[in-house]
Amino acid sequence: MAQQVSTGELRADRLFSVHGWVCLVTGGGTGIGLMCAQALAANGARVYITGRRKEVLDSTAATHSPKDGPGQIIAIGPCDVTSKQDLDALYTTLASKEKYLNLLICNAGIAGPKAAPSASDATELRAQLWDNDSPSAWASVFDTNVSAVYFTTVKFLPLLQAATRSPHPHMAGSVIVISSMSGIMRGAQGHFAYNAAKGATVHLAKLMSTEFAKASIRVNSIAPGYFPSEMTTGGSDDAQKSVMADEKVMGKGHPVPAGRAGSDEEMAQACLFLAKNRYVNGEILVVDGGVLGQVPG
Ligand code: NDP
Repeated sequence: MAQQVSTGELRADRLFSVHGWVCLVTGGGTGIGLMCAQALAANGARVYITGRRKEVLDSTAATHSPKDGPGQIIAIGPCDVTSKQDLDALYTTLASKEKYLNLLICNAGIAGPKAAPSASDATELRAQLWDNDSPSAWASVFDTNVSAVYFTTVKFLPLLQAATRSPHPHMAGSVIVISSMSGIMRGAQGHFAYNAAKGATVHLAKLMSTEFAKASIRVNSIAPGYFPSEMTTGGSDDAQKSVMADEKVMGKGHPVPAGRAGSDEEMAQACLFLAKNRYVNGEILVVDGGVLGQVPG
């Protein structure tokens, strides 16, 4: 039975504290992964970040690890999430440092080929799509955005369950999958492979939430709209941060009611909510500035 609490116990800093938590963010060196890593570290967690580029991870940890609190951002070294061998090594390294993992964020993703299906003449339409895309490019997009999410989560199940079994009541293990609004809408946005893959990512998160509940591990997903990142802006500055101009967001070919990209704070709020609310499982939390209210989905 849920216990009654005093008003003071409902303060935001209590509800969303992740003090003492251990977290792992794939692709945590840039973009949305970095926003999540910062949110967790700012609220007390030890956050391990991984990705393929060591220099990015080291620089991100040095720049963004909080200087004035117990939380930390720690570069755990490179890992290609599409490699089972790399995931094995990552698990061994983390398990040698930590007894449990409270939160895994499967965030690493790639955009893949662009091929806008804009022509209404079928021959021209075929040429647009056939000439600018390939089965191997599709396979690569699915490897990173779908299969790797599955294998990363599966690999870390024991450390996640160790968190759930810990005597500390707040130490529950869960997973947040970063999917996309692109996996929910019906438009291809000029990248069929990515949108199809993200549709699979959304469904994979639902499957894992049902199947891994038996191990007391929750799985939820954030489906972002437009957020500044290397993927959406083509690069980042010396602090691994990116800027996405309002005009770029508004030029996407469909309405974006918010009129701008999402902010670090808005991603942080979504991340902390799913991390801390143990009554939520299998949820796809859309954080899109209202886009999916305007386009077919
Ligand atoms: P970024 O390109 O900034 O971040 C992607 C991160 O993933 C990078 O740090 C990259 O690091 C890492 N990565 C890519 N491939 C691999 C791999 N094989 N193994 C390990 N790490 C890898 O883009 P975003 O922040 O935008 O992307 C983060 C997630 O958010 C993705 O899943 C993306 O699809 C999703 N998303 C983003 C949206 C946005 O508007 N920004 C909207 C909706 C969803 P490295 O290259 O060093 O490996």
